[in-house]
Amino acid sequence: MDQVKLYDTTLRDGMGGYGMSLSVGEKVKVVQALDALGVHFIEAGFPSSNPKEAELFERLAGLELRNSTIVAFGMTRRGGVAAAEDPALGTLVGSVAPVVCLVGKSWRLHVEKVIRVPEAENLAMIRDSVAFCRGGGKRVIFDAEHFFDGYRDDADFALACVRAAAEGGAENVTLCDTNGGSLPAFVGAATAAVLADLGGTVEVGIHTHNDAECAVANSLAAVEAGARLVQGCVNGYGERCGNANLASIVPALQLKMGFEALGPEQLESLAPTSHYLDELCNMTPDPDRPYVGRNAFAHKAGMHAAGVAADPSTFEHVDPAAVGNSREILASELSGKATIRSQAELAGLEVDDEAAARAVERLKEREHAGYHYEAAPASFELLLRRETGVYEPLFELEGFRVITEMREDGRVVTDATVKVFVDGERYVEEAEGNGPVNALDKALRAAIGSRYPHLADIELTNYKVRILDETHGTGAITRVLLDSTDGQEEWGTIGVSENIIEASWEALVDSLEYAFQPR
Ligand SMILES: [Zn+2]
Repeated sequence: MDQVKLYDTTLRDGMGGYGMSLSVGEKVKVVQALDALGVHFIEAGFPSSNPKEAELFERLAGLELRNSTIVAFGMTRRGGVAAAEDPALGTLVGSVAPVVCLVGKSWRLHVEKVIRVPEAENLAMIRDSVAFCRGGGKRVIFDAEHFFDGYRDDADFALACVRAAAEGGAENVTLCDTNGGSLPAFVGAATAAVLADLGGTVEVGIHTHNDAECAVANSLAAVEAGARLVQGCVNGYGERCGNANLASIVPALQLKMGFEALGPEQLESLAPTSHYLDELCNMTPDPDRPYVGRNAFAHKAGMHAAGVAADPSTFEHVDPAAVGNSREILASELSGKATIRSQAELAGLEVDDEAAARAVERLKEREHAGYHYEAAPASFELLLRRETGVYEPLFELEGFRVITEMREDGRVVTDATVKVFVDGERYVEEAEGNGPVNALDKALRAAIGSRYPHLADIELTNYKVRILDETHGTGAITRVLLDSTDGQEEWGTIGVSENIIEASWEALVDSLEYAFQPR
């Protein structure tokens, strides 16, 4: 079986997407999720000296990845400057990433009007930069920017650019549809022309954007024509209409075209990984997304459901389980229970049939109410514990109160009071914080801290809020995701409510209770 390698660019190209913003810690989580999925290359961005990038590359250097290779991204040298004199290339060669992706021009229009150098100099810029990185011990992928527009305009020049990269020692030349407007038949033909021109000396890759809604189709057409590396983003994040969506490309390659991209088990984790990445990026998972969306295998009751019950292939193009998704209405109680069972096992809990059935019901209710446990496994474990009777509450709540006050001088002050019982003893504490969640956290810790000294080791590391039904504005439901750590383990919890403080409180209590469950 032929292999197609996957190259995820969420942390570089994907960050151009509307509303995309990730902390260094979140970027590391993206890398870990993509590694677990089995993506071959992960583009981390340009390893510049700005503190955020420097910290990212430093943390990546310390990660042990099972499947993925980190790629540093940069540009070919500037015109008229020797590669060795170009500081950006020096930074790339000095980075911890074993692979460098260099982007360079391949459209005459850009060479004339944007970088304004003679054509021969553009070719030299590509050749020299690739050779310089090779000389510095890096493997090199060359991204031929605007290749398809360039090929349409002047095929000979576009091919010469790609050849220059091959001559410089690139192991792969990736053809980019940077403006995203090309159509599949043309992409396939141009890719075939490049392969014929290079004569099999260098691997060819494809990088497409979705401006004509053909990014996935164009990627598949290029693979059909012989490309063996696909660049894109799981979930198709990216500027304008996004990059090619790897979550749609991979199952097509694997289940329909006979290529190997991920292992079969890794393919089964595609849907959960897609949802998890959306959670990290604070995006609402698109329910209509092919393969991985909630509705991708949801059948209307009636004839469709009956057909699927008789034989799934009547109304399903692939087996939902193959991509880690499930059939919506026919999600039988049995499969639900089986999932619950395996989750419980992971947490070391024993679940009998009845408890599993209750947990399935509870889960359904909660998901309907807006809970989403992919990024909050600690809250999910607490749910299972409550249904199996191995749950120990930290305290009994009598009540809490939060007052946020704006003073005349413009200062905003928040006070929280928490009243709780632990083993029948009443504790009342008040605390001031920089906001309601912070004040509640402090007051709660003050109230029960003497009973649970280990609380002092637990730190909240991330607080994320999403409005679930955006059409209702401030009347909408709020989902809060919290990440916490005790310095060794890290866990995520969730709270959902119409009231942001209540949702925060719920996630906060889960985050503390999780740490104290008997194990
Ligand atoms: Zn791009």
